[in-house]
Amino acid sequence: FDLKNDDFTSLQELGSGNGGSVMKVQHVKSGTIMAKKVVLIDAKPAERKKILLELQIMHDCDSRFIVSSYGAYLAEPNICLCMEFMDKGSFDAIYKRIGPIDVKVVGKVAVAVLEGQRYLYDEHRIIHRDIKPSNILCNSQGEIKLCDFGVSGELINSIANTFVGTSIYMSPERIQGATYSVKSDIWSLGITLIELIVGQFPFSGSFDSDNDSDLEGEGHRTPPATHRVSLTIPSSPTSKRRSKRRSKGVSLHGGGMTLSIIELMHQIVHEPAPRLPSGKFGHDAEKFVDACLEKDGEKRTGLTGAIRNALDKGVTTERSGHDRMDENLLRR
Ligand code: ATP
Ligand code: MG
Repeated sequence: FDLKNDDFTSLQELGSGNGGSVMKVQHVKSGTIMAKKVVLIDAKPAERKKILLELQIMHDCDSRFIVSSYGAYLAEPNICLCMEFMDKGSFDAIYKRIGPIDVKVVGKVAVAVLEGQRYLYDEHRIIHRDIKPSNILCNSQGEIKLCDFGVSGELINSIANTFVGTSIYMSPERIQGATYSVKSDIWSLGITLIELIVGQFPFSGSFDSDNDSDLEGEGHRTPPATHRVSLTIPSSPTSKRRSKRRSKGVSLHGGGMTLSIIELMHQIVHEPAPRLPSGKFGHDAEKFVDACLEKDGEKRTGLTGAIRNALDKGVTTERSGHDRMDENLLRR
């Protein structure tokens, strides 16, 4: 496709994050339904060209664990990324709607994410850099795929928002400024897995190994409405972002406790890593999450080890041909 704004009818807003907003659209000529991500950028013409060139890599990705791309185009002052529409949405929305996700399904998520990461790294030497529930999507065929990976360094530099690149899923070594490796993404996967299994982000304060009473009973099926992350530190005055995003704060609300992003980063670096509550979700899941959340990046499991481990431990029940998610598990 050679794409431009006029080619689409907007159907529905799917959501928005730090980097931009995502619309369900229809490509009129072909009838294809797509998800169109609009990102406000602050870049000179040469940089824009480079972004488009770098985004070409996305187009070259061909894996059933990666959301496919239809192409990207500039629509001043935005860049638009057109991708495969995943009709069941992202896993953050799924667990916030239905509550904690069955550990077997989460095992499938783990395998899909690891396979996606392996594909990106082996075939394109790309490290994802933003593994989290909102970047793991699912469709009604039960496929689980990764989106929003860091293909374009130039795009990341140009996004007109100060907090892009700061994530509450960041590994201790990344917070401390070490060079990025695939292992940092394994940490983010570990945090993601706990969040999906328990139904709550593990650093919210209500999730604590000494006191997991909040996890008992019906209460935790529906995470508190305040469970969200927002930015309280004002964006830089040069930021072109408009009021809605600017008013977001940098605090993490959850379980009645507010944690500033700085406190959170401090916790990630200095406190023991979060763990699954013992005895509740099975030994294999606990061991697997522990391996992902080894605080020392050097000692943490790598991709190959994690995949082998996930399959051996039966974190997933079956593999080839059966690694689709059971629809019914999402229809609770
Ligand atoms: P952040 O900007 O911090 O990374 P985010 O991932 O939630 O947060 P976006 O990447 O802008 O923000 O996505 C917004 C929402 O749009 C996602 O949470 C997801 O639910 C939805 N979405 C994104 N891509 C698709 C897609 N290809 N198909 C269906 N829904 C999508
Ligand atoms: Mg995203």
